[in-house]
Amino acid sequence: MKRLFILILFFTCAAHAQQKITWPHHKKSVIVLTYDDGLNSQLNTAIPQLDSAKLPATFFLCGDLNYVSIPKWRAVSKKGFELANHTIYHPCVSTDDNPVASGNYTPYTIVREIGTMNNLLYAVDGKTARTYAYPCTETTVGGKSYVIALKKSGLIKYARVGGDVDAVITDFKNLDPLLVPAYGLNGNNTGAELIAFVKRVQVSGGMGIFMFHGIGGDYISTPAASHRQLLAYLKKHKKEIWIATFQQAMDYISQQEHLK
Ligand SMILES: [Zn+2]
Repeated sequence: MKRLFILILFFTCAAHAQQKITWPHHKKSVIVLTYDDGLNSQLNTAIPQLDSAKLPATFFLCGDLNYVSIPKWRAVSKKGFELANHTIYHPCVSTDDNPVASGNYTPYTIVREIGTMNNLLYAVDGKTARTYAYPCTETTVGGKSYVIALKKSGLIKYARVGGDVDAVITDFKNLDPLLVPAYGLNGNNTGAELIAFVKRVQVSGGMGIFMFHGIGGDYISTPAASHRQLLAYLKKHKKEIWIATFQQAMDYISQQEHLK
């Protein structure tokens, strides 16, 4: 009986060891910086800061692009940043600060809208593989989940949802690529708070995704100084932390055969 117990313990440990992920270039954890809604403060403040720190990031855009912003986002893509899908109209349950109610949508109509937004993004940056972020982090429209419809459509490789400071991902075997959690900031965070999340991710050896909106402006805004402090910390610890776009990080994770 005792021997059986030891044997079970051995296989349990072996299974755990097998599931552990290793990151490229001997890095110990991953941080993904994501920015929602295609805001001017991202173009004017976040991107210049990212440029000077030489760090990549993902921008989830909506369809309110025009002749002024399209060339700007095209230039952002050419620098290596990822442009990603956040629907055309940003439908949500609450219309307090969102233009379109999601109540009249069905899984079919939202997926169709996401497909059209993919085409618009293709016209901007010429890319065909696309990631997605759920507007208002809601995975339902009209009371129905559209996660399966989105998966079946094949339009989107990976999708980001919401979460809080606990959204540190370590269980990659059970990670649903269309429900990847992120640390959604409430606005006005200090640099120390942002860095504290990175440190939690570093200790875990896993992945942490930031979900920003405005940077030094617009709404749910993170002060420009806090953002700069975060980037300085990431740059300083670049040897241990892999800073990747959402698509790069998820491509790497999904290629790890032992986690399947
Ligand atoms: Zn949004």
